[in-house]
Amino acid sequence: MVSGHREDILSAVRQLDRHITDIRTSERWPRLKVHGIPLTYLIDDPDLGSLRDSLCHTNNLEITQARWLIPETRLRERVNQRNGNLTSSTVVITLKNLTAANALVCKGSMWAAGKRRRVELYKNLAADTQCNHCLQFGHHESTCLSPPQCALCAGNHITEIHKCDSRNCAGGKNCRHTPPKCSNCQQSHTATSRRCEIRLTATQLAREQRLQRQKDREIRHMAKTGPSFIRATTPTSELGT
Ligand SMILES: [Zn+2]
Ligand SMILES: [Zn+2]
Ligand SMILES: [Zn+2]
Ligand SMILES: [Zn+2]
Repeated sequence: MVSGHREDILSAVRQLDRHITDIRTSERWPRLKVHGIPLTYLIDDPDLGSLRDSLCHTNNLEITQARWLIPETRLRERVNQRNGNLTSSTVVITLKNLTAANALVCKGSMWAAGKRRRVELYKNLAADTQCNHCLQFGHHESTCLSPPQCALCAGNHITEIHKCDSRNCAGGKNCRHTPPKCSNCQQSHTATSRRCEIRLTATQLAREQRLQRQKDREIRHMAKTGPSFIRATTPTSELGT
């Protein structure tokens, strides 16, 4: 089993072959969101195995995994809260082929559960993902459980219904009359401002987490397949043999 970081591995293999300059990073499998999947699958197909199989067959794809975007327990809660008004949700699929994934994203739809359904690229939520509803960082509005916050005035309403006293103002996020207040740091800028300290911290954290994930992926990949090495065309050191 390989353990330790990329640099450690690299320095270890360079003792065996000093012409090695880098370790090739592992490939990532693309993930897509498929919208509008009927919630009957929650009952009929709990692990989404048969949905995955039918997606493979009808679209001629290799799909390694299918799961609900929202955790299943929360999805069930929402179905109960909305008294049956919620009939479909989004599924995330993992594909084995980047070209096929790109083709689907370009097309914008795929055949799923008896209909063409909207498809888009699934992006990982990061520490700097800002919720549209409560304006905090690290989650998406689809999973938000916090009360709404206005990006302009930090009031307890969504930004879209922000009102001001100015006569000619239609309100909402285009209002330029209200002195801005950030609900995250309480300073005088909007909650989406790039100057916000909280945002800057979240951005920094997201950057560090991305780097760490990259390292972890390389280590996992090498543990699975053994490293593949990139050789320098000219020796980088002539010392020792
Ligand atoms: Zn939120
Ligand atoms: Zn407001
Ligand atoms: Zn206004
Ligand atoms: Zn702020």
